[in-house]
Amino acid sequence: MWEVMYKIMNKRKKLIRNRIKCLKCGDIIESEYTHDWVQCSCGACFVDGGHDYMRVGGNREDWEDMSEWEIDE
Ligand SMILES: [Zn+2]
Repeated sequence: MWEVMYKIMNKRKKLIRNRIKCLKCGDIIESEYTHDWVQCSCGACFVDGGHDYMRVGGNREDWEDMSEWEIDE
């Protein structure tokens, strides 16, 4: 069963790079547009949502958050 995590952008927090690293196969995967569902090569995790929201699936210990956000002060 996958554990899914959501991170939603808001007015002050803009998602620039929706990206994670799989710690099992070492792949860095990035979702570049809405509904761009990308899975790493070993299948342990995925990322989705493009620049609208960040949706990551997989066991939490199997991936590393490499997303970049722009925060308006
Ligand atoms: Zn992998």
